[in-house]
Amino acid sequence: MISDDVKMLLQLIEQYGVKHLFKHLKYKHKGLFDKITTATSKFKDASFSEKIYAFIYNLQDRPRCLHCNKPVKYKGFSVGYAIYCSHGCVARNELTKDRSKESLKNNHNVSSPVELRWKRKEQ
Ligand SMILES: [Zn+2]
Repeated sequence: MISDDVKMLLQLIEQYGVKHLFKHLKYKHKGLFDKITTATSKFKDASFSEKIYAFIYNLQDRPRCLHCNKPVKYKGFSVGYAIYCSHGCVARNELTKDRSKESLKNNHNVSSPVELRWKRKEQ
């Protein structure tokens, strides 16, 4: 359920854009501004855009990398957070995800279904 604060925030974003929201909230909606600041106190060194994002999605802390569990980067208001902390983790996660390939190799001594078809033809 969307709270009234979030509803108002979304309206203001539509009206002013995320970039100009900081000043507008600070001077015209101090109560809401303070709520956002308090709710996102764990988000150290976060931009105001990130704080607004966290507030809207009710995040208690920065999301973590799907692979190594480190906090991930905020990529902007429309995108949100990255899924992985680094390119390394994207690659490593691809490897661990590839269990199907692994089992093909173990069971059939081939690395792809195409190769498996070839093998079968030969036999
Ligand atoms: Zn990672």
